[in-house]
Amino acid sequence: MPLNLELSEAPIRENRLGSVTGYNGTAGELCRRSREGTLRERERSFSQCATCASVTAICKLAMIRDAAVVNHGALGCAGDFANFNFVNRAGQARRGRPLRNANLINTNLLEHDIVFGGGEKLREAVREARERFSPRVIFITTSCASGIIGDDTAGIAEELEKELGLPVVPVSCEGFRSQIWASGFDAAYHAILRRVVKPPRQKRPDLVNVINFWGEDVFSELFGRLGLTPNYVVPFADIDQLERLSEAVATVQICPTLGTYLAAGLEERYGVPEVKVPPPYGRDAVDNWLRELGRVTGREKESEALIAEERARIAGELEELRGRLKGLRAFVAAGAVYGHSIVAVLKDLGLEVAGATVWHHDTRFDHGDPAGDTLDHLVRSHGDVAMSVCNKQSFELVNMLNRIRPDVFVVRHNGMSVWGAKLGIPTFLMGDEHFGVGYEGLLNYGHKILDAVGNPAFVRNLARHARLPYTDWWLRQDACAFMEDEP
Ligand code: SF4
Repeated sequence: MPLNLELSEAPIRENRLGSVTGYNGTAGELCRRSREGTLRERERSFSQCATCASVTAICKLAMIRDAAVVNHGALGCAGDFANFNFVNRAGQARRGRPLRNANLINTNLLEHDIVFGGGEKLREAVREARERFSPRVIFITTSCASGIIGDDTAGIAEELEKELGLPVVPVSCEGFRSQIWASGFDAAYHAILRRVVKPPRQKRPDLVNVINFWGEDVFSELFGRLGLTPNYVVPFADIDQLERLSEAVATVQICPTLGTYLAAGLEERYGVPEVKVPPPYGRDAVDNWLRELGRVTGREKESEALIAEERARIAGELEELRGRLKGLRAFVAAGAVYGHSIVAVLKDLGLEVAGATVWHHDTRFDHGDPAGDTLDHLVRSHGDVAMSVCNKQSFELVNMLNRIRPDVFVVRHNGMSVWGAKLGIPTFLMGDEHFGVGYEGLLNYGHKILDAVGNPAFVRNLARHARLPYTDWWLRQDACAFMEDEP
């Protein structure tokens, strides 16, 4: 279904993409039921906390170099501000960019404001943001509290825009709106597409938008060999760069779970073609991705040459790694498509994937092209794998890890990696999403896993001294015991 950028807010993923947070079975079954439209959410009768969509929206907007974010909510909603600033600075350093702090303000809604309204506090905070940071754009992100009391965020933004003479853009991302925190990415992109991106002044035949988080710059070298230049968005971009997203020759993304909305919006509104195949993790996927990028940008010959050259370059080392990794069992936990990608990489390296859990599952993507179905690609190219969908429910994850006891636990988020370590399982925290990109990424993973399994002393020691918050009773139950039966 086409996106509707005339709407003031992006539809949440549950409604737009049929997304779910509860499932247990196999990847093949998940794929089949998504295709057939028979997949239903399995609610939990007990759950722990998970990430919220407001936080993911802020995390994208906070790293725009010359913008400011005013989060209209209680102080607790700003709990991740320090972390965003740390990630922001670390990422800029990694990319060799001058360091800047994230420009963030929270309106600190209190009981009094909940009763009488928080409009005045919001006005004050936006004026303060203008004064302190001199931003090009101010984004106002909403929260559960401001949503429930019905503060007129959009009306206030309009009023302040006139007063201050710069774009003041409301972003509708109340935590309670969606169970899928990736809806927050979409809310941020919706605001950027509606209010920041401008029609192209001149097309740039070499420029490729790369929707990503904060990983190392690996695309400059790879694209350079095709005569292309990466345009990294959204973290560490400035408003000028975002205004000109429409001028690119194509858009790629390191994970369609992250960028589905922005990539589809750029194609629909400005004709910037999206590379609609699984992202470049694992040998087959890299081949496909380079071919499609070559086709879209008119560089087919160069892509074929690059594939042949790189395959030949890594062949010997890959074989050696496969020999050393053979027989090891892995468990994977990550966001949806990123999780599928890691499974493909591990299988390419010859590991047995004993199971995987992904934080949510989108039954379709915004571009609607089956060629972009990463899960289907994984099952067809690498075979089936046991898979559950669990929105960072630690109790389920600990139960699964304890039951499976893999040789290595590969995980994308630090809040979850601690469980592997506490169980004494060598754990590889995949913090830089670009670490596994391309052919070199495959080798990177192989070496990192060998490091993790070859040095288990720290996690074993930790496990001897750590006490889990879960009882033996729980560890004996089925991991999905609190998930309702299939409807
Ligand atoms: S927006 Fe809602 S769910 Fe998110 S941190 Fe604030 S109160 Fe919690």
